[in-house]
Amino acid sequence: MTTGSPIRLSVVVPLYNETQTLPELVRRLGAVLDGVEGETEVVLVDDGSVDRTAELASEAVDRDPRFRLIRLSRNFGHQIAISAGLDAVVGDAVVIMDGDLQDPPEVIPDLVQRWREGFEIVHAVRVSREGEPRLRKARAALFYRLLRRLTDTDIPADVGDFRLVDRRALTAFRTMRERNRYIRGMFSWVGFRQTTVGYAREARYAGESKYPLRKLAKLGADGVLSFSNAPLRLALRLGFAISTLAFLFAA
Ligand code: UDP
Ligand code: MG
Repeated sequence: MTTGSPIRLSVVVPLYNETQTLPELVRRLGAVLDGVEGETEVVLVDDGSVDRTAELASEAVDRDPRFRLIRLSRNFGHQIAISAGLDAVVGDAVVIMDGDLQDPPEVIPDLVQRWREGFEIVHAVRVSREGEPRLRKARAALFYRLLRRLTDTDIPADVGDFRLVDRRALTAFRTMRERNRYIRGMFSWVGFRQTTVGYAREARYAGESKYPLRKLAKLGADGVLSFSNAPLRLALRLGFAISTLAFLFAA
């Protein structure tokens, strides 16, 4: 891509019961995209919300031609909602961001800048996290570091799903159709020229986290099981140890 050429930038936002944050998201994201050179589109993905999220989203679509809406038939979860959006975008690059404004839209120009410099994947790294319980922050920090020790894939720590991805990397990503998806790991694995941009993670704008411990544990397990064979090795060793003991016992 040559600098200054007209570009198309897509943004994918997964939404689950975000009635309280959606109007502010549309406002702030719209304002940021006003300042981005070239055509832009926003693909809102309603992940089976049971509140008025879909209604508010379709109002945004009616008002602003840059917005599109995908409605999933039920709640499939964050990672599948993102994947549905990524399958639909038409841009030369796509930004993935949460819909609760914890990923500030104002960081998008920084991501685009690095992309224009030639990077194909630009991960947004949380250099600080506002307004989250200390336990949750500590747990996340520990998990990211543990996963890094268990895997050969260089998955940067403190990186969520907030990132920019060039069309070429997106095409490669789209061939990976695994059902249990740990998207942040998949984008690290896929290669290409990658870099990071630091940002201050804000507090959720309104409402509560849509990631209860159960969903978080599943995401963590998907990360470990997809990117490390340590659990498999552990199970094998345990199996050997138990059968050896049983053998000795029988003898
Ligand atoms: N989300 C989703 N489906 C779900 C759970 C969450 O699409 O089943 C969306 C949610 O609306 C938000 C993003 O995924 O835009 C991240 O969720 P949340 O902010 O609740 O997670 P946290 O930041 O607390 O980890
Ligand atoms: Mg959040």
